[in-house]
Amino acid sequence: MKKSYKYIFGPVPSRRLGKSLGVSPIPQKTCNYSCVYCQIGRTTHFTNTREDFFPRNEILDEIKDAVEQLDFDYVTFVGEGEPTLSKSLGWLIIETKKLTDKPVAVITNGALLYDPQVRNELLTADVILPTLDATTQELFKKINRPKKELDIEKIIKGFQDFREKYTGQIWMEVMVVDGLNDSEEDIAAIKKVLDRIKCERVYVNVPIRPPAEKWVKIPTKERVIEICKILNAENIDSYEETEGFHIDKDKDLKEQILKTTLRHPLRESQILSMLDLPEDEILQLLHEMEANGVIRKKIYNEKTFWVRTKQKE
Ligand code: SF4
Repeated sequence: MKKSYKYIFGPVPSRRLGKSLGVSPIPQKTCNYSCVYCQIGRTTHFTNTREDFFPRNEILDEIKDAVEQLDFDYVTFVGEGEPTLSKSLGWLIIETKKLTDKPVAVITNGALLYDPQVRNELLTADVILPTLDATTQELFKKINRPKKELDIEKIIKGFQDFREKYTGQIWMEVMVVDGLNDSEEDIAAIKKVLDRIKCERVYVNVPIRPPAEKWVKIPTKERVIEICKILNAENIDSYEETEGFHIDKDKDLKEQILKTTLRHPLRESQILSMLDLPEDEILQLLHEMEANGVIRKKIYNEKTFWVRTKQKE
């Protein structure tokens, strides 16, 4: 059986990053936002203070092992929360680049880019994938529900300052929620900011997996297409749901389902289609895990998902 890691996951398939080797340098659901659409639920460790949550050498040892053993396209710093909250992120990026020629990406909400130290640390990454869902403080508070000291104007200024020095790629994601940030006015304001940041790519996403708040709705397909045109963006809603889950036949299936549901809910039909096992057997396993109280069923957007109930490895 293949080795299990504490900080590394995947490589998982990603349309944007190919085979993405994930590194999570923060504990489960540590974030400075508590977005209404978050697929891992409301933020439980709500903080804007950077820390070394784990010994950085322990994380690096796993990266070293994984880059030697596994086949991947990107090393991606991401987390079940916000990876820039790890105080050692910059050091980890530099050390990772000494270990592999493959590019390093960081998936972030971008909030801490107002901090010159964080901007400097991210300069060494090859691709940054931040998020921008609002341009006014009122809407920012409604959709991203940030720590109260966070100010959207300062964050946008941080994006611009970062862009001035950064020679890598910025692939911005805009998450659109029906009736919340999808109006003509809100999208036009986002477009203005995106033009200033000069991102190499823009992706529009929608909450395709069960969100933190039940009332969150996906805009119509027509509206998403219009928004993509306005923002000159690619629509990722059609493929994101199939991303991020890879079954490794050499690893324990239960453990893989548990690990993946820590990062996002899993659509039942996706699990069934990916496994070369009789449907009854897979459903029985899922129901056993449900009976043990570690996962539970959730219907969202007329689809059945399995979500994590307990946070244990
Ligand atoms: S979607 Fe990202 S930024 Fe928003 S609460 Fe979840 S982990 Fe934090």
